[in-house]
Amino acid sequence: MNLVFLGPPGAGKGTIAAKAKDVYKVPHISTGDLFRANIKNETELGKKVKAILAAGDLVPDSVTIEMVRERLKEADAKNGFILDGFPRTIAQADALSEMTGLDAVVNFVLAKEEIIKRLSGRRVCKSTGRTYHVLFNPPKVEGIDDETGEPLIQRDDDKEDAIRNRLEVYEASTAPLIEYYRAKGLLVDVDASKSPDEVLSLMVKALEK
Ligand code: ADP
Ligand code: ADP
Repeated sequence: MNLVFLGPPGAGKGTIAAKAKDVYKVPHISTGDLFRANIKNETELGKKVKAILAAGDLVPDSVTIEMVRERLKEADAKNGFILDGFPRTIAQADALSEMTGLDAVVNFVLAKEEIIKRLSGRRVCKSTGRTYHVLFNPPKVEGIDDETGEPLIQRDDDKEDAIRNRLEVYEASTAPLIEYYRAKGLLVDVDASKSPDEVLSLMVKALEK
């Protein structure tokens, strides 16, 4: 199964992808996670993109496309993938279509007020990328990762100014992909306002059709 998860920041793409990867037995490839791993490991790529992520701007297409091209060549992506957070621009979508075919593009639909609640309450474990929410998906012990015991952090780009910018960037650069993929007959809309397990099951049913 070759899937793309599309939707505004905070819609729950990463949360659902972490579950859907076991349903479809394909890797969850998040470009945000790949960039954050490079920043953490202080690679050349990481140094180049750190300030861009902190501000909530988009990494240049050429850099992002090459990173995804390399990732899709890895053995685990042979039988499919869930691409989470890529493509985010028409140029990225055009480049992806030259790399591989797609079975569907899942569009996570969520009202703006809910998006803001989800982003502002998001907490993550820096080493594993595991995601929580202070109200909707709290860890067993406040501020601590359930499995590693590490402290949870708030991403820099989940603070108010960066959230505002990311939503503007989404509207300007990424939302046009909805019509782009609808026109290709690939778009599957999913109501992302339900609980994670309900969203997963709505998506699985919609993809069976
Ligand atoms: P979100 O949780 O908001 O969906 P991600 O973890 O997917 O965020 O992405 C975090 C940041 O990484 C983005 O704000 C952007 O700076 C960068 N990024 C991720 N994917 C892409 C992409 N496809 N193109 C350009 N920049 C990207
Ligand atoms: P994205 O990858 O689209 O940016 P995430 O999966 O990181 O979104 O989710 C954003 C925040 O919302 C996280 O704090 C997550 O725990 C929470 N969340 C995700 N899905 C749901 C849901 N269906 N209901 C309530 N909260 C959710």
